[in-house]
Amino acid sequence: MARTYDEQAVQPAGDVLHEACGVTAIYAPGEDVARLAYFGLYALQHRGQESAGLAVGNGVAIDSHREMGLITGVFDEEILGRLRGDVAIGHTRYSTSGSSVVCNAQPFVEESNLGPFAFAHNGNLTNADELAARLPDDVRLAATSDSEILAKTIALATGGTWAEKIKAAMRVAEGAYSVALLTPDAVYGFRDPWGVRPLCIGTYGDRGYMIASESCALATVGAHYLREISAGEIIVIDGRGIRTEHTEVVKPASLCMFEYIYFARPDSVLSGRSIYMARYEMGRALAREHPVDADVVIAVPDSAIPGGIGYAAESGLPYVEGLIKNRYIGRTFISPDKKMRSQGVHLKFNPIVENLRGQRVVVVDDSIVRGTTTPRIVSLLRDAGAREVHLRITSPPIVHPCYLGVDMATHEELIAANLTVPQICERLGADSLGYLHIDSLVASTGRERHDFCLGCLNGKYPSRPADSHGNVQADRQPALKA
Ligand code: AMP
Repeated sequence: MARTYDEQAVQPAGDVLHEACGVTAIYAPGEDVARLAYFGLYALQHRGQESAGLAVGNGVAIDSHREMGLITGVFDEEILGRLRGDVAIGHTRYSTSGSSVVCNAQPFVEESNLGPFAFAHNGNLTNADELAARLPDDVRLAATSDSEILAKTIALATGGTWAEKIKAAMRVAEGAYSVALLTPDAVYGFRDPWGVRPLCIGTYGDRGYMIASESCALATVGAHYLREISAGEIIVIDGRGIRTEHTEVVKPASLCMFEYIYFARPDSVLSGRSIYMARYEMGRALAREHPVDADVVIAVPDSAIPGGIGYAAESGLPYVEGLIKNRYIGRTFISPDKKMRSQGVHLKFNPIVENLRGQRVVVVDDSIVRGTTTPRIVSLLRDAGAREVHLRITSPPIVHPCYLGVDMATHEELIAANLTVPQICERLGADSLGYLHIDSLVASTGRERHDFCLGCLNGKYPSRPADSHGNVQADRQPALKA
């Protein structure tokens, strides 16, 4: 009988993982691909600050380096100099639990009957237990994440080519997976058939290509964005050029709306739509839906700034800077417990008193998850002399956890799952609170409702909730994961 994942887990069962990651891949013979992938990853640092890694193929073998920490701390000239080759992939990851251990850092390097390969995953499988149970008894799992199970599933899948193996794995894997896969002389980029997490492709130089979670990574190294990789599409780049294959598994489109709301960088383009412009439109719509008699509009930096500017433009109120963020402090959700999260907010923001004193302030933020950050911000503003604080949120209430790759909170922790809007307003200490309507949110993206996974907003998920490996226990109203 195949062993279950927990029997092999390096850490105690129940110690759940949460990850939302950035991946990149580059095919550029003759170039310093490790350095290019490094700078690509650098642009994706916001997608995960827990660990980082690179793997490089030199035509014969794969060399790699991965460690805990920020990209700048994980690599130095010596390491980059050692990673020589024509193809590379990279990964940056975060976790919010004790699972932040180096064995979970990616890319993983694995063996298969087609030779060695390296694997970098963004997303969250929802049937990893099932996949683990299918693996032969003698398969050792070195990590504790669903990503490794997907890598092993691909390694052991039938098929005489990597594309065939990936397709075979796609027939059985459920959930979100945007993946960069490297062999000694080729790179592959593929997305799950739902297309939950982003993945795009661009050209590099005359005959090179680059793949990345977000287009901002392409721009950073001078690659030119071509398009999103489609749901269920497998891109193959090797000495014969670039090819595309599609899995026959067709699923309803389910791009994560939270990428538009919060996660992606504003200078990225997702499905042809600028994240900045989508957020700007969210702010404008919010001003129409929830106008208020006020003096100034501010935004909570950084993700809500386009929304704040949009709110100001539509309302006619002046946009001013009210909070300055210390950019060297990671996102508050990296802190492992509630106490540290709340401390993080004090470390993170400082008010511009001169813009706030005596003012009736509209504060635009992108989302309220647990409701830990916002009351701290309201107090900061009041302490700085704000006369009124009106919260405007460029998303609807988040009332369900995510099983597909965004680390948010458990059902119990989600403030909007447990309180009404007036109750939330009171709890946050604001003078008023307005959330963006889901229809306006969708409209701001220029896409249709059926293009998205809106699970955190309406409880409708493209696939079943994650199992224990998906790091979410369906019966305990899961913590989420990215
Ligand atoms: P809280 O309500 O205290 O959980 O924090 C919500 C704030 O964290 C929002 O203002 C967002 O900017 C940011 N945020 C939203 N989603 C996430 C997430 N998945 N992980 C970390 N921070 C997030």
